[in-house]
Amino acid sequence: MGLSGLDIYKLLPKTNCRECGFATCLAFAMQLAKKAVGIDKCPHLTAEVQDKLEAQALPPIKLITMGSGDKRLEIGNETVMFRHEEKFHRPTGIGFILEDNLSDGEIKAKVEKINQLKFERVGQSLEVNLVAIRQNNGSARFIDAVRLVSITTPLVLVLMTNDAQALKGGLELLKGRNPLVYHATKENLNEVSKLAKEYKAPLVVYGEDLEQVSGLAVALASQGVNDLVIETGKKGICEKIGDLTQGRRLALKKSDRSLGYPSLAVIEQDDPYEEVQEAASYISKYAGIILMKGVQPWQVLALLTFRQNIYTDPQKPLQIEPKLYPIGQVNDKSPVLITTNFSLSYYTVLGEVEASKIPAYIISVDTEGMSVLTAWAAEKFTPHKITESLNKFGIKEAVSHKQLVIPGYVAVMSGELQDESGFEIIVGPKEAAGIPAFLKNL
Ligand code: SF4
Repeated sequence: MGLSGLDIYKLLPKTNCRECGFATCLAFAMQLAKKAVGIDKCPHLTAEVQDKLEAQALPPIKLITMGSGDKRLEIGNETVMFRHEEKFHRPTGIGFILEDNLSDGEIKAKVEKINQLKFERVGQSLEVNLVAIRQNNGSARFIDAVRLVSITTPLVLVLMTNDAQALKGGLELLKGRNPLVYHATKENLNEVSKLAKEYKAPLVVYGEDLEQVSGLAVALASQGVNDLVIETGKKGICEKIGDLTQGRRLALKKSDRSLGYPSLAVIEQDDPYEEVQEAASYISKYAGIILMKGVQPWQVLALLTFRQNIYTDPQKPLQIEPKLYPIGQVNDKSPVLITTNFSLSYYTVLGEVEASKIPAYIISVDTEGMSVLTAWAAEKFTPHKITESLNKFGIKEAVSHKQLVIPGYVAVMSGELQDESGFEIIVGPKEAAGIPAFLKNL
């Protein structure tokens, strides 16, 4: 966490000379804490204070970029322990480990399966991020596998090897792809850091615990290797979450720069259910990247949905544009359904209307992203607001009938809405799952 205005004030000369453009040193300190001005505005800072203030201006967890083009992955730059404090910024990268001792055909098939792991949910495209190639045999086979994977997927690649020759070959092949190098340990630190520096590749630094990782990170930083991802090895879930949480806490709360990097967790479960459970645990606290073996769509959909929920700003519900949506080949006799502009509400209704195969209009009313009952309770989904939306979105021009279907949960407003809008109000099902049967009988 950065210094507060008062912490900064204590470091200033306190002469109130006004040369910075502020009336007092305190006023300047407050603006500096908000990052609204630069430290260069005060010409009276000692070199020591300048270093301290510059260091506090850096993000507590470094932003690390890997990959290239539109599949580039950015992790880090997080600022809070809990999402209700602000939000989590950079969603965990989800990746898959491929063993290089598989046959070419098996590798190609698995990578193609990974490429297909894309889903649409509440209007957002959910995708996986990385493919890691792990060395099991000689360097020649590893390099061949890297070549094959690189031409089969645009995703970010991870080179998992302890063999410097294999690593160099892989990095040479992937010039311009900015792969993640896995990993520097106390045994290979100098060799691997030299290659990471030469190829400007981000590097995983691996230790058995946070203390070891911290020491290695300091050594790497002193060699000019600063694009790091930290890992504390294979452990039980509790212990691993302990490491991930402590690392984040030390970086954010204690400004420990040696741990101010995003983290990575490798999951080596054979049971696919336990694998998902472990991966979800690390996504929630606080892995920047998870690497797993399973590529079943049901596993990945669960993790992508979970990640989407964790990384949604809790203060800004997912919303869609409030408007009139024609679904299918609508005409002037098509039914009209009302819902809110909360993404989950809209897309649930949309899915059921599409499933019914009956063309219909959906009007999403602007409820500031609240769901039906919440919006009704907060007076954002009222007969007056619905009537306003009907007029604004031109439903009278779109259909020749005068009927509206409202969600069953707000049946209580039907009389008032009928009076205000002039439409006959039909109370629809409470749950969206009832929409197909309801529309067929309408
Ligand atoms: S220039 Fe420096 S010493 Fe002068 S008022 Fe501003 S902060 Fe204080």
